[in-house]
Amino acid sequence: MVANVLEVNPERLWDSLERSAEIGRFRDVGLRRLALSAEDKQMRDLFVEWAKSAGCTVEVDRLGNIFARRPGTDPSLPPVAIGSHLDTQICGGRYDGILGVLCGLEVVRTLNDRGLQTKRGIEVICWTNEEGARFNPPMMGSMAFAKVLTLESVLATTDDAGITVEKALDEIGYAGSAPVGREFDAYLELHIEQAPVLDREGCDVGIVVGGYKTQALRLTINGDTGHAGGTPMAQRRNALVGAGYVIAAVNDIGLAYAADEGRTTTTRIESFPNLAGTYAEQVKLTIDFRHIDADRFKAMRAEVDAAIAAAAKKANVEIEVAEGWSWGSELFAPECIELLKTTAKELGLPYREMRSQAGHDAYAVATMAPTAMIFTPCFEGISHNVNEAIELTRSVPGANLLLNAAVARANR
Ligand SMILES: [Zn+2]
Repeated sequence: MVANVLEVNPERLWDSLERSAEIGRFRDVGLRRLALSAEDKQMRDLFVEWAKSAGCTVEVDRLGNIFARRPGTDPSLPPVAIGSHLDTQICGGRYDGILGVLCGLEVVRTLNDRGLQTKRGIEVICWTNEEGARFNPPMMGSMAFAKVLTLESVLATTDDAGITVEKALDEIGYAGSAPVGREFDAYLELHIEQAPVLDREGCDVGIVVGGYKTQALRLTINGDTGHAGGTPMAQRRNALVGAGYVIAAVNDIGLAYAADEGRTTTTRIESFPNLAGTYAEQVKLTIDFRHIDADRFKAMRAEVDAAIAAAAKKANVEIEVAEGWSWGSELFAPECIELLKTTAKELGLPYREMRSQAGHDAYAVATMAPTAMIFTPCFEGISHNVNEAIELTRSVPGANLLLNAAVARANR
């Protein structure tokens, strides 16, 4: 039994979320705070200021990952890390990632209020470019930290304007010198669910045991360009038509697997020359598919591959397939899942176990440290949308679980 149950300060947490919601405000209620942009810098600066006034030492690594450390009584022990991200999608909401970082900060502030020390330090982390909205792939900060990606490849990644991560970090002054990669005792991440399960079930806490298996594919569809009027239909090799067949077929596969939790999505299209009056020579397409069950995931992959081949034939084009991001095959650490469950029981918090349908920094960190995640509800699961919404009263139970679990682990 936790001798002394700790509770976060809900009003302070909400105030911090509201302050964050002013930086990069988009379409009145949402946020556009792309990784390593001026808005991202402004939010990072505010986070650093908050962390320092809470007595933390702040370090930044070469990728701009920020580590705010509240020291423990035994500095020789690796810290308990709590992290998420402060960047957003292009039409993003106010809570995706942000809630997790600010709950981490709230953990530190609550411990300060109570004058409590922990044996291990507690570190609050803001990971660089979780969203992948400006630089692809997503989650590159945590992936490089966990050595899933190389530092060099991440620094050389460019946005659509050709600006490298390295240059963007220099421009906002967040190319730090802290080591990229080091030991954590454990990693905990709180995040809004981004799916409607908790909201619909009226449950406020999800304990995440792992992710959906997820695979992205980058397709390059090659045809020929030609005149929109003159070229006989039978002669056309319109890459955009090939893309259209792929998009429709991939969506149908998602619908066919929807009953047992399959998902497919076409997310991005680039067409060349992308002009009226001429048809497309080349189209680049990103698709992804996800399933909770590994065998069903394999079956989906086979259907997606077959659909791509059929689309190529029907449109008389060639389609090259390259694998993009993938994650979700690992489960989180049983010891951390157990810690969250035990702590939830001690706090009297009803919870459900679940798998995450979205990608998170926690997947990369799970390859290097015992990791688990807490989900909190968001209205109807709406996310990556300016209308993303949470209720404070339904977010506080997850924040209290994070607080008490982190402290228990840090005092172990
Ligand atoms: Zn997120």
